[in-house]
Amino acid sequence: MTLLSVQHLGKSFGGVAAARDVSFTLQRGEMLAIIGPNGAGKSTVFNMVGGQLRPDRGTVLLDGRNITAASPQMRFRLGVGRTFQVAQTFLSMSVAENVQMALVSRRRESGALWSPARSRCRDEAVTLLERVGMADAADHPCSALAYGDVKRVELAIALAGHPKLLLMDEPTAGMAARERADLMDLTASIADAEGIGVLFTEHDMDVVFGHAERVIVLVRGQTIATGSPEDIRQDPDVRRAYLGD
Ligand code: ADP
Ligand code: MG
Repeated sequence: MTLLSVQHLGKSFGGVAAARDVSFTLQRGEMLAIIGPNGAGKSTVFNMVGGQLRPDRGTVLLDGRNITAASPQMRFRLGVGRTFQVAQTFLSMSVAENVQMALVSRRRESGALWSPARSRCRDEAVTLLERVGMADAADHPCSALAYGDVKRVELAIALAGHPKLLLMDEPTAGMAARERADLMDLTASIADAEGIGVLFTEHDMDVVFGHAERVIVLVRGQTIATGSPEDIRQDPDVRRAYLGD
């Protein structure tokens, strides 16, 4: 069943059309990459799906429900999650505390009474950290972690919201090649096991072609190709416009 359906999205900033008639679908458990040069409109599309930006035109459906006008908070409650960078101010807190904070805010968001035993929240945080391979570092301050490990913690924080759809705008920025592949391997295995749909952007084409099940190519706000990594790699329009042929 289709998890996300984006139909004819358009957004302009002043005279610049950042997105023009962008349409695609995403299934449960699927890894879908949006690629394109800088300024192509990738972040604009992410922000229209996440609710940070209102489209000028078009529709966003989640599980068939029209969320085009929903706030980011409402979308979060409905299962739209995104990875955020662990804020500088949280770096002094422990890894587990950062995840516990996300669990607490999830309970507040859902309107449930907030009276979980601290230990239960802690157990849940540790379970999430186990899933991203970071349980051993639960009591370390985030500031002591290697950059790639911070990214894993950011993934655990996003998973604390129980997303159906996970938006990852350049999740591997600043990481070494090996770490990039590891983070996306981990993301793919969690997405597959839990049926989470993942929409991501990525500059490293090896990572894109190695991890995406489908790829959308945006150039100047327009979709110039959609297909399997193999199709995209061989598409002459894509090679000309983007891969540098
Ligand atoms: P990408 O993420 O693919 O690099 P963006 O979605 O950030 O591209 O940007 C697409 C285009 O829209 C660019 O020309 C950018 O300058 C413009 N743009 C994006 N956000 C804004 C904004 N808030 N105000 C004005 N122009 C913007
Ligand atoms: Mg961007």
